[in-house]
Amino acid sequence: MSAKPILTVGSIAIDWLEVPDGRKGEVIGGSATYFTMSAGRFSPVHVVGVVGSDFPQQGMDIYHEYAANTVDLQTKDGDTFRWGGRYHADWERRTTLYTELGVFESFSPELSTENRACPFVCLGNIQPALQLSVLNQLENRERLVISDTMNLWIETTRDDLLQVLLKTDILLLNENEAHLLTGVREIVDAANQIRSMGPGTVVVKQGSSGATLVDDSGAVHAGVYPIEKIVDPTGAGDSFAGGFVAALANGRSMKSALVAGSATASFCVEGFGTEGILRLTEETLQARMDVVTDKSEFA
Ligand code: AMP
Repeated sequence: MSAKPILTVGSIAIDWLEVPDGRKGEVIGGSATYFTMSAGRFSPVHVVGVVGSDFPQQGMDIYHEYAANTVDLQTKDGDTFRWGGRYHADWERRTTLYTELGVFESFSPELSTENRACPFVCLGNIQPALQLSVLNQLENRERLVISDTMNLWIETTRDDLLQVLLKTDILLLNENEAHLLTGVREIVDAANQIRSMGPGTVVVKQGSSGATLVDDSGAVHAGVYPIEKIVDPTGAGDSFAGGFVAALANGRSMKSALVAGSATASFCVEGFGTEGILRLTEETLQARMDVVTDKSEFA
């Protein structure tokens, strides 16, 4: 594989998921899990994270299969991070039922020497203070930093998040988060305001309406792959990030990465938890990227 290595930090979780026509517990999830499964087939992913002693072997197997490096994946005495979420009938709204930090409460990422030099760093959705801790341990060299976030951090730890943004090259966030961060509803205006906070490039994810990338050259929009039936949208954002960053690590253009992100997320929503991403291969991804490209507006 000629792809460059990607260092990622994020949550590793055991989820409880409620969707309009079903519910399921003990589902392996977390932002790092979805990211690693989506990017790991195409680029070497180096994982920074923590699990508790209750983390099932099935979860570890995912990391051993999809991650190239798990040296900085710690196992601590205690409970794995647990999150419960409920989707509403429109699929657009999600209620967090509970968040139990477990071993995340005292997590302090420690980067081994081999992981300090990765040319791509993806700060997945996790407390901004932990994202900063990873950034501060990196070797002083040229790299691309891609960050993800969520409404919780915009509302509760805004100052830390602003510190992360100052060191971020590309920020991924959804439409509601862009509005929450800036107070601006119009997507391109909000993205440009975020660009003045640090990231040169901002990608605004718009669910079933696709995603818009804004940088120095202006705005481009990618459509979505049409899904017959959404089963569970959990992890769609992290899978988008995985597809997007893996494409960049393979030397693809920003536009191609945007299309790859959108196409990758479409696999995720087709199954419960991580089941949908199991169908992601080079061939199936390319086929969906072709469809998404036809539905995109590139100047
Ligand atoms: P997404 O649907 O892309 O927002 O990602 C869903 C995943 O994020 C789930 O598997 C959760 O375990 C994880 N998650 C939910 N809340 C948090 C949080 N506060 N910090 C880190 N990860 C979280």
